[in-house]
Amino acid sequence: MSLYDITARIAKAESAAGRLAGSTKLIAVSKVQPNERVEAVLSQGHRCFGENRVQEAAEKWPGFKEQFSGIDLHLIGPLQTNKARQAIELFNAIHSVDRPKLAKTLARLAQEVGHCPDLFIQVNTGEEEQKAGIMPVDADAFIAECRELDLPVQGLMAIPPVEEEPSLHFALLTKIAERNGLQWLSMGMSGDFEQAIALGATHVRVGSAIFGERVKPAG
Ligand SMILES: *Cc1c(COP(=O)(O)O)cnc(C)c1O
Repeated sequence: MSLYDITARIAKAESAAGRLAGSTKLIAVSKVQPNERVEAVLSQGHRCFGENRVQEAAEKWPGFKEQFSGIDLHLIGPLQTNKARQAIELFNAIHSVDRPKLAKTLARLAQEVGHCPDLFIQVNTGEEEQKAGIMPVDADAFIAECRELDLPVQGLMAIPPVEEEPSLHFALLTKIAERNGLQWLSMGMSGDFEQAIALGATHVRVGSAIFGERVKPAG
């Protein structure tokens, strides 16, 4: 697979779903990938990337931002409140807003910093204990709470349980977004992004299918 192949498959999935060409944003998930692979994708003209750890992104991206203009960086992994300021400064979007304490911290820091990334609320559609995300039953109230804090909540994000049919989770996420008037849906990864597009994904997060299998980090 390659960036070219994935872009072609996205276009095909959009067309099959009767959606506008280009209505799905491809987030190339570069976590743990060697810099040469990331640079190759940048050199092909791609600018939208996803990272799941603030620390790793802070080490990797300032250098690339000096080399390439127009980089659009998305945080797709869990965010600790003590990293929130750094995340606001580094990322254009945060997909993992999942609890009141984090929402309040982001609201306060966004005031101080003077801007806020686009925000997605992560929903734990599979109600998995070990997984981040607000429970589906609490989602409406949490979205309202974020709006009261004046946070720029644009959409929802989910990572379906590995053993389950992802479409059921994508459909649930779509339903929660619709009833709350949210436009963006961050769902779909290497193995299921076409299904996600069929169900309305506006952002797909694709890593290994673009870059190859992740090389395990040392330690
Ligand atoms: C790693 C990761 C992805 C990409 O996974 P692939 O299967 O490599 O496409 C997508 N979303 C999140 C939240 C991730 O952590």
